[in-house]
Amino acid sequence: MSEQRHYRDRSVLIHGKFRSEKWDFADHILPPITTSVAFRLESAERGAEGFRQFANPAIDRDKAHPIQIYERLDDPNQGLLEETLAYAEKGEAAVCFATGMAAISAALGVHLRSGDHIVLHHTMYGCTYSLVSNWLTRFGVSHTLADLTDLSQLERAIGTNTKAIYFETPTNPTMELIDIEGVVGIAKAKGVSTIVDNTFATPFAQRPLTMGVDVVVNSLTKHLGGFGADMGGVVVCKKSLEPDLLMFRKDFGGSISPKAAWQILVFGVPTLALRLEKQQQVALAVASYLEGRKGVATVKYPGLESYPQKDLARKQLVDIDGRFAPGSMIYFELSGSLEEAYDKSLRFIDYVAANALTVTLAVSLGQIRTLIEHPASMTHSALPPERQAEGGIHPGGIRLSLGIEDPLDIIEDLEEAFCTID
Ligand SMILES: *Cc1c(COP(=O)(O)O)cnc(C)c1O
Repeated sequence: MSEQRHYRDRSVLIHGKFRSEKWDFADHILPPITTSVAFRLESAERGAEGFRQFANPAIDRDKAHPIQIYERLDDPNQGLLEETLAYAEKGEAAVCFATGMAAISAALGVHLRSGDHIVLHHTMYGCTYSLVSNWLTRFGVSHTLADLTDLSQLERAIGTNTKAIYFETPTNPTMELIDIEGVVGIAKAKGVSTIVDNTFATPFAQRPLTMGVDVVVNSLTKHLGGFGADMGGVVVCKKSLEPDLLMFRKDFGGSISPKAAWQILVFGVPTLALRLEKQQQVALAVASYLEGRKGVATVKYPGLESYPQKDLARKQLVDIDGRFAPGSMIYFELSGSLEEAYDKSLRFIDYVAANALTVTLAVSLGQIRTLIEHPASMTHSALPPERQAEGGIHPGGIRLSLGIEDPLDIIEDLEEAFCTID
């Protein structure tokens, strides 16, 4: 019965798969948290069988009841979370990691070896840039940064040893969009894999695998966790990549803690749609206010009429019910010369940090609390100033991650701060 019924995403995000093979209990509504590092193997034969089955391409993890061995390899909580996230992203398989960066390292790691090359959009999360420029170069992997909003730049950047194209859309922090289908068209023609960081949009608002992308990564620390209480990451992809990802996780050791996986599974994913719908309403109200505020030079929010890539936004950012989903992130720049804007942005943020209840100065994003930060000196400080300028990260740029507070309070808190820099 239920296996055949088509349930809508909103319901499956709450309940997960009906009667998962990953769990063998009958009476719990919520899965119990597993806190056992090692699992009882019952017999030498079953122990050997567990090792034979792990990361074995011939075994379908969704159908075969897994033999649990050791928490770093796999455990029921992360297995259940993976099942639900694969469903949410419309992928065949998902592998969870300790953090978003561990997931990104694995997604790149399983695609690349010494001598290979990757192309990345020139604006990206600071640690991703650091991973590629400080670490992958040591292992003989070279990279080119290009402006992927211009597909001719992408074509020129791809060489004979290019193995992957990596980008975020919307980009952190500048809220630019990359045309996913445009990139996929070029990548497929050249036989190059595509990897998309879907952290800003989340599977609620964008499912890149359905647009032909090969691999999606998400930081579960952000919207998918939703409350800022736990860290995690996930790679979603075809079944054929799953064994390599499991082996990478086992050997590099970036496994997600079952306690974190449990929280994300029980609180984060089931409330994703509810939170994002509310956060979007708040973001639209705040973006509209900022757009009309004296002293603000530009506001980048995909839900505004003034948003430069409006048509692409409406095509790509579509929620699980088919509605336009512009998200909860806003990027805005203060007016004045670069020095003036920089100085004002720091004074603005310092005032908010000291006086605002509803806006908190902190990095991270996607929480039920509204967070503000200064990308040029904080999240994106790993990018040297010339890279920041190239990627459109302005010295007077401010990033807001909207929560679920009353938007009028957020606006009043921001207005008070504006009055001190006017
Ligand atoms: C935060 C973030 C990451 C890294 O995630 P962690 O869980 O902090 O490791 C990667 N990409 C984007 C776009 C992010 O915002």
